[in-house]
Amino acid sequence: MSEWIVRQKIRIPFHYTTGRALTRFLTGLAECRLWATRCGECARVYVPPRSFCGRCWREITEWRELPAEGELMSYTVRPADPPLILGLIRLDGADTALVHRLGEVKLEELERVVRVRAVWREDRTGSILDIAYFAPAR
Ligand SMILES: [Zn+2]
Repeated sequence: MSEWIVRQKIRIPFHYTTGRALTRFLTGLAECRLWATRCGECARVYVPPRSFCGRCWREITEWRELPAEGELMSYTVRPADPPLILGLIRLDGADTALVHRLGEVKLEELERVVRVRAVWREDRTGSILDIAYFAPAR
């Protein structure tokens, strides 16, 4: 007797809590503020913030606000019309990087972009998309 294989997709809606660190990060975004945490042991600055340092196995309780500007470390482009450009951004004072959209830049200019700044949405809701995109800092 042969096996029967039934292929199907199962939809599983769920909610999860963002926890202490991401809650403060998201509420900060609604106020155009970027919150990070700093490990008291290794001094690593996390953004998005973490409440636990995976390097030191230690709780993080120190907060600091970072400027909405930093270094574009890398990028990738998804061909579309218009192209979707995603950047790997390390905010000034952070040791980790964020991935976010890049805007106000042409593909042929990307190689020369070093510094970027956040461009905030008018209607912020406490979401990573409260930052519309990062634009070249001029
Ligand atoms: Zn640490």
